[in-house]
Amino acid sequence: MNKTDIKSLSLEELQREMEQMGEKKFRAAQLYEWIHKKLARDFSEMTNLSLSLREKCREHFDLATLHSVQVQESKVDGTKKYLFELPDGNTVESVWMRYHHGNSVCISSQVGCRMGCRFCASTLGGLVRNLSAGEMLDQIYAVTLLTGERVSNVVVMGIGEPFDNMENLLKFIRMLTDERGQHISQRGITVSTCGLVPNIKKLAEEELQITLALSLHGVTDEKRKKLMPIAERYSISELMDACRYYFERTSRRITFEYALAGGVNDTKEDAEGLIMLARFVHAHVNLIPINPVEERDYVPSAREAVRAFQAKLLQAGMNVTLRREMGRDIDGACGQLRRKVIS
Ligand code: SAH
Repeated sequence: MNKTDIKSLSLEELQREMEQMGEKKFRAAQLYEWIHKKLARDFSEMTNLSLSLREKCREHFDLATLHSVQVQESKVDGTKKYLFELPDGNTVESVWMRYHHGNSVCISSQVGCRMGCRFCASTLGGLVRNLSAGEMLDQIYAVTLLTGERVSNVVVMGIGEPFDNMENLLKFIRMLTDERGQHISQRGITVSTCGLVPNIKKLAEEELQITLALSLHGVTDEKRKKLMPIAERYSISELMDACRYYFERTSRRITFEYALAGGVNDTKEDAEGLIMLARFVHAHVNLIPINPVEERDYVPSAREAVRAFQAKLLQAGMNVTLRREMGRDIDGACGQLRRKVIS
């Protein structure tokens, strides 16, 4: 019998399940609290439920939990990178970072990725499968338990393209922000996409208060196509329309992610193009020196080029940050740890 993935069920869905099992509806709230608030890893921990109900739940449901199979801790900044094994044996990465304003976890949304960005390690083996809402949640739950510290910010910037797994992503966000669970503030959540236009619009219509990050990386269609195959499908002009729509519907500033690759997208003209686009959609710009990946050709821009690029944006009055490179000494770039283990 195929068991139901209980961690991916909303409270309302769980209530229906309980009723179908001939149990009282309020049991669902108890189960939900054990799973999403108290972060129980097994039905045996749920001591206010009778032994027989715990047994019945075990027969009926899978309480999918992730197991940490490898941890790397940065000696520089304490960042921890976890390799988690999923119930079916696949692996994903999550990264825990400590900032002044609280702890942040970067989670994966898929096993692998099919977007094919030419500088990225996560996409090298293609897409294996989507993560369920419960598997996305459990990365945060597992990290909370492992570090013993509350998480206040979540970024969906690990392995995978979150907008290629839209339904589970939206469910994950609703459950993560629900007061009956971890109750993380919507403003503490950032979702990063390579630019799937229809789903940017769909997210805008959800009118959530989360931050949308767009991986731009190139300011002309020509340049972007060289770096990101998704640019063949959606033009920059379509992307910018979607970004403006997102801003209009949510009043939330978008972040442009811009990875600087030496001699590729770090010239004065690139900076000027970026200023125009960012102005057009009121975006904040986050510059990232590209992380070299063994199987890829790109190298980070020289320190001087990064500085000049940033200075140009600042002079134009742009809101710009240079991403602190957390955990550089521990295979910081997306997908590098999983890649080492599976290859
Ligand atoms: N698929 C989503 C989220 C995952 S990638 C997206 O594309 O946005 C998270 C961010 O890391 C993206 O901005 C991505 O372009 C960037 N990235 C991937 N590989 C990188 C590398 N080698 N160096 C720097 N940034 C990289």
